Amino acid sequence: MTWETIVKSHHYLTLLPNMRDYDEEYRFFNWERARDELEGLPGGNGLNIAHEAIDRNANGARRDQLAIRWLGRNGEMRDFTYIQLRGLTNHFADVLRKLGVEKGDRVFSLLGRIPELYVVAMGTFKNRSVFCPLFSAFGPEPIKSRLTIGGARVLVTTEALYRRKIAPIRDSLPFLEHIILVGENHQHTNVPGTLDYYQLIYEASGHFIIQHTDPEDVALLHFTSGTTGTPKGAVHVHKAVVAHHMTGSYALDLQDGDIFWCTADPGWVTGTSYGIIAPLTNGVTVIVDEAEFDVERWYSILQNQKVSVWYTAPTAIRMLMKAGTEVAREYDLSSLRFLASVGEPLNPEAVVWSHKTFGRPFHDNWWQTETGGIMIANYASMDIRPGSMGKPLPGITAEIVNRNEDGTLDPIKDPDKHGELALRPGWPSMFRAYWNEPERYQKCFSDGWYLTGDLARKDADGYFWFIGRKDDVIKTSGHLIGPFEVESILMEHPAVAEAGVIGKPDPMALEIVKAFVVLKPGFLPGEDLKLEIIGFARSRLGAAVAPKEIDFTEDLPRTRSGKIMRRLLKARELGLPEGDLSTLESSPDA
Ligand code: ATP
Ligand code: MG
Repeated sequence: MTWETIVKSHHYLTLLPNMRDYDEEYRFFNWERARDELEGLPGGNGLNIAHEAIDRNANGARRDQLAIRWLGRNGEMRDFTYIQLRGLTNHFADVLRKLGVEKGDRVFSLLGRIPELYVVAMGTFKNRSVFCPLFSAFGPEPIKSRLTIGGARVLVTTEALYRRKIAPIRDSLPFLEHIILVGENHQHTNVPGTLDYYQLIYEASGHFIIQHTDPEDVALLHFTSGTTGTPKGAVHVHKAVVAHHMTGSYALDLQDGDIFWCTADPGWVTGTSYGIIAPLTNGVTVIVDEAEFDVERWYSILQNQKVSVWYTAPTAIRMLMKAGTEVAREYDLSSLRFLASVGEPLNPEAVVWSHKTFGRPFHDNWWQTETGGIMIANYASMDIRPGSMGKPLPGITAEIVNRNEDGTLDPIKDPDKHGELALRPGWPSMFRAYWNEPERYQKCFSDGWYLTGDLARKDADGYFWFIGRKDDVIKTSGHLIGPFEVESILMEHPAVAEAGVIGKPDPMALEIVKAFVVLKPGFLPGEDLKLEIIGFARSRLGAAVAPKEIDFTEDLPRTRSGKIMRRLLKARELGLPEGDLSTLESSPDA
């Protein structure tokens, strides 16, 4: 084959990244053109997420293609094509319509990762109601507060979850009109005061015409992870789908024929924007795994399902690293083409490890519940700088800003200077409000910028580097230290699996750096190892930045979305109140 024929062959073309030239695309991109990649509702009737994700594909060439492959906890498997999803989501939209649930009404889900969750989400969009997913592992209190804040009209849950978590609080939820129960194994349910999901679906029509949907109509209410405090309800509109679609293509490089696995639960925004919407609008096949993290299970899924694009989080990657490269070698992971990570800073060590283990690097990207979609990323066509979040998406203006005394903000021109990461408002998936908290929302904006609450720096080539959350940054003897920098170096020590770093108040230094360290299997905690790790950190970071104190611990406190809760490490260290623990992974009331 000549070079020319190789280049022309379809096979070769599909291996080229969607975005070939970042600089050019960044320069010429505009959101109107991105919107034109989507179809819009028939007859110019607006823009609806579910139409773009499902019906547009079901009405066209992807009609019989696999949209979702569901892997059950006990080995079951269920497949859904685009046309099947169109029917099922029409049924659920019709269920809502018949119940009198209207545009703008909040439909909550409290479901594990089961197929019905995906049908409920999309059916809710079709009915123009507002979808609000909750982690099924939440305890009654976090569930109650979110249902109350969001003014839920409908809740879809399972019979088992209902009995354990909703029945005890039902009396305090007078506004909650309909509770729909999904029975085990498609069984009908018969619980007084509730409706049966399968009965309703069975009685509903498979034909549903989506009514006029203004791109600014509210589609999603998503609570933040609660890493820094009480979770906030971020409001997103149907137009967000333009950003989901574009970022799925540019930042995750989703291409025709891809098998995509986003490991996040839809209780966290990544599981909705990229576990449901973006892959479906891009017409790929989505893998959904009902089970929780397990090293062997995950490698089996990557191998057996021939996953080509994998989107996961640093916590999971660190756990895979802890299990060792040899385990990965037992599997054929050759289908993997693109690996991405989000949620926390990705330690450079993890990028190096992934190169060694998968022959491919993890691509870190940065975003928040508030931004609705990926904002800064390492792209398939760009050289990765391990430890960097990458560069802003086309259509996104990001800067490191400095606050002047008069409250105005100036982008920092000097490379590598620390400041707050700020974005120019106006991208389609930007949150439109914090539910019922207008003041908190207003506070995020200043002088024409959206302030993210994260500190970062930008290098001379335009790559962004995460320093830390404003609340987590450590001030010691005139230095400003981000915990991530220290944690990443600690992880380079052969005994360290994970580390969480905080500032501990100190009369002399203002704060001292303290690290909580989880050891790899085979290493025993002890004074010698402590001194060795401190010495190692000193040689790499200098005495001012290296931890002065180390505590060994079995595990670090984490949110359900997998983020280290440094505020909790700190509160426990200082014996202070622990604050809002609703999103803590091992929450006592779950
Ligand atoms: P809350 O705002 O309630 O405290 P949260 O900020 O953890 O919770 P999310 O919206 O889920 O809630 O998380 C977004 C935050 O996660 C970002 O602001 C940032 O601090 C962190 N983050 C996400 N991706 C990255 C990344 N690639 N590198 C560094 N930090 C990241
Ligand atoms: Mg936040």
